[in-house]
Amino acid sequence: MKRYDYAVIGAGIIGLTIALELKRRYPGSEVVVIEKEADAACHASGRNSGVLHAGFYYTANSLKARFARDGNAAMRRYCESRGLSVNPCGKLVVASDERELEGLEELKRRGDANGVELHWLSEEEARAFEPNVRTFRKALFSPNTVTVDPLEVCLSMKREAAELGVEFHFNAKYEGRTDEGIRTGKGPIRAEYIVNAAGLYADRIARDYGFGTRYTIIPFKGMYVKYTKNKTDIRTNVYPVPDLANPFLGVHYTKTADGGIKIGPTAIPAFWREQYRGFSRFSLGECLSILYYEAKLFVTDSFHFRRLAFQELRKYAKAHLVRLSTKLANVDPQGFGPFLRPGIRAQLLDTRTLELVQDFVVEGDARSMHVLNAVSPAFTCSIPFAAHVVDTIEASRNAFGPER
Ligand SMILES: Cc1cc2nc3c(=O)[nH]c(=O)nc-3n(C[C@H](O)[C@H](O)[C@H](O)COP(=O)(O)OP(=O)(O)OC[C@H]3O[C@@H](n4cnc5c(N)ncnc54)[C@H](O)[C@@H]3O)c2cc1C
Repeated sequence: MKRYDYAVIGAGIIGLTIALELKRRYPGSEVVVIEKEADAACHASGRNSGVLHAGFYYTANSLKARFARDGNAAMRRYCESRGLSVNPCGKLVVASDERELEGLEELKRRGDANGVELHWLSEEEARAFEPNVRTFRKALFSPNTVTVDPLEVCLSMKREAAELGVEFHFNAKYEGRTDEGIRTGKGPIRAEYIVNAAGLYADRIARDYGFGTRYTIIPFKGMYVKYTKNKTDIRTNVYPVPDLANPFLGVHYTKTADGGIKIGPTAIPAFWREQYRGFSRFSLGECLSILYYEAKLFVTDSFHFRRLAFQELRKYAKAHLVRLSTKLANVDPQGFGPFLRPGIRAQLLDTRTLELVQDFVVEGDARSMHVLNAVSPAFTCSIPFAAHVVDTIEASRNAFGPER
């Protein structure tokens, strides 16, 4: 049986960029990507907003801050060089009252610390740029926020990786580790080194290797509604001031790569990891475990989970979601169409502190590396973040030596 140098679990943007980075760095190596679905990017990577964030939300010492600005530029270059869609529409962050102005100031401070270009616009200037926008006194403008088509990007990377010699095994679910590699639904894979980029299931797989033991993933469902009236009522991405205590950015307008308009995403606590619709992909064991932690969060009200849960569950009602969005811009409330395909965030919870983990987490050793909490803006960060993961693999292998 063939022996691979690296087996990457998961063909989302993180698995794809890591596979590409491994193959570019070690052209002679044998790399295989194991994916449980029939194609790449069936989960968060193909279902997100497609916003390349500029990098001003994150505190300067975080991996998110380190990689968002460069990741934005790298992904934009990637798309432009391959002729993939990019909408250079920028972004406005708007305030609704005096208190939110303080939030805007904090975002500007973070942006300055991270070397991210941001400009203050007066209310009039903001309206000259985006005629329907509503803001209190001023707004923050980010010229480098752009949108791309995330599925198009992932499929392009998959093609490119295959051309470089990366093998893909689809419909091959990771089912456990073995002495020689891993067990999948399609048979065993022999591999020297395992890279876990399994998104919503990364915590489970990490535990098989003794990593991520203090964490569990809590899924949060992101729903969108399309504005179908026209493509002109909104010209740029329009975001509210987020609650910086949690990792979600609040319901906003996304100007998609094709010029369309959508609102969302929500951050509704889900009860199982792939709870996209009805009871599809329901798992009782998963549901019980997630309910256990959600109940704990509810009782302890850690990071104001109760308020978050109530606020978010109301967003299952389209009318409520639309009402929230009209606080940011004067658009026609009757102009919204159906809910779009939702995405689910693989948000890590620290089970000891009951806090949501804000930053990316990478744990591993000389045999395996595990990417945990690749939540937003991991799509934006993916290219430099993958290089960081491969650096970490290299360092671990050098530190612990080849014998295992
Ligand atoms: C609603 C929403 C909006 C977002 N908006 C943005 C945004 O605008 N900008 C941005 O930068 N980021 C955004 N993000 C975040 C971004 O989408 C994610 O950070 C990124 O897609 C994570 O990529 P991933 O490869 O880790 O995960 P995934 O895309 O989930 O990939 C993991 C893969 O692993 C596979 N897998 C899982 N278990 C197994 C197994 N046992 N065996 C084999 N394969 C397995 C899955 O099938 C999947 O294909 C958003 C996320 C969501 C949910």
